[in-house]
Amino acid sequence: MSDQDIPPGATGVITIDLDRLAANWRSLSGLVGPAQCAAVVKADAYGLGAERVVPALRAAGCTTFFIATVDEAAATRALVPDAEIYVLNGLPPGAAPELLSANAIPVLSSLAEIAEWASLSRSGPVRPPAALHIDTGLNRLGLGPRDVDALAADAGTLRTLDIRLVMSHLASADDPSDPKNAIQLETFNRQRRRLPAAPASLAASDGLMLGAPFQFDLVRPGYAIYGGQAFKGGPTPVAPVVSVQARILQVRDIAAGETVGYSATWAARRPSRIATLAAGYADGFARSLSATNDHAGGAVRVAGQLCPVVGRVSMDLITVDVTDLAGPGPEPGQMVELVGPDLSLERMGAAAGTIGYEVLTRLGRRFHRIYIGGAEDIPSYQL
Ligand SMILES: *Cc1c(COP(=O)(O)O)cnc(C)c1O
Repeated sequence: MSDQDIPPGATGVITIDLDRLAANWRSLSGLVGPAQCAAVVKADAYGLGAERVVPALRAAGCTTFFIATVDEAAATRALVPDAEIYVLNGLPPGAAPELLSANAIPVLSSLAEIAEWASLSRSGPVRPPAALHIDTGLNRLGLGPRDVDALAADAGTLRTLDIRLVMSHLASADDPSDPKNAIQLETFNRQRRRLPAAPASLAASDGLMLGAPFQFDLVRPGYAIYGGQAFKGGPTPVAPVVSVQARILQVRDIAAGETVGYSATWAARRPSRIATLAAGYADGFARSLSATNDHAGGAVRVAGQLCPVVGRVSMDLITVDVTDLAGPGPEPGQMVELVGPDLSLERMGAAAGTIGYEVLTRLGRRFHRIYIGGAEDIPSYQL
């Protein structure tokens, strides 16, 4: 990326490498074969822009996509006319027409949803396809044990459903030593066998790293495709996709004892040089990355060197201590790295008291976006 590509008024830049994204998907797909690898692109592809991410994944070979909400169905369908689209949050009452017109498959999570979808089959000439979500211990969405009992006994309803997928979701897949993984695996196998035979799916990004018994017919990674490393049992074979930079607006020298930022929560203990950056919590730089004299907060990389945040993160600005920078001081206009190869989403998430997923999905809309590779390589007449 060259500076000429960045509009002078842009406060920050989010760079999304679509070739890396595609390579990550291919890497996961190769890892789980013969299981099929889908892509979870909910929440605007984890904030990275479904419009660019979804076609790039389709071009990489992905033919199955998961979104969260009915609202996301039509937009996703327009991006991938020939792919399977599953809606994880299921079938809100009355939303069936919208799903049917987007040719999207609801992941049915309750007997009420199943009854509503089955009634479509009874009233129309086609049996619209469905997925079933079995709860195996997350207690969030899905059919509980009594629901599976009832459904297994309801041959009439089962006959009217075209079940394309039976799935469940793991609670603690990031930790391979957690006994809950094996318990959920056993529950999933036991419960799904009570229903008509259908392709099965249990694993997301971390679950697929637990090995072949967890991979079944289809895996559903999201975070790992975007370069996330949430699995605690070793590295997931993916590379970072996103980097974030923000501009320095001002550099100032302050005397020992002077304070920086709202509520004066940080005071200089020595003569200090402070750089003010054009990024704040409205850009996804969490306010919990604020620092006091007693409590370290976030850090950014200025000219390759790590510099700590000092004082409060505000809506549009952060202040960092650049006193210890070697070489000539940083200049207004210079770009500073907030997220990048050595400032991972996980690191920022941990410093902010949250997880990399939240950092990723909150990256701001105000920054200039640059997409590298991917659909940019497709001649415009094909778009
Ligand atoms: C979000 C989600 C996924 C993807 O999870 P990652 O951890 O991002 O891979 C898969 N399955 C379900 C049910 C989800 O809600």
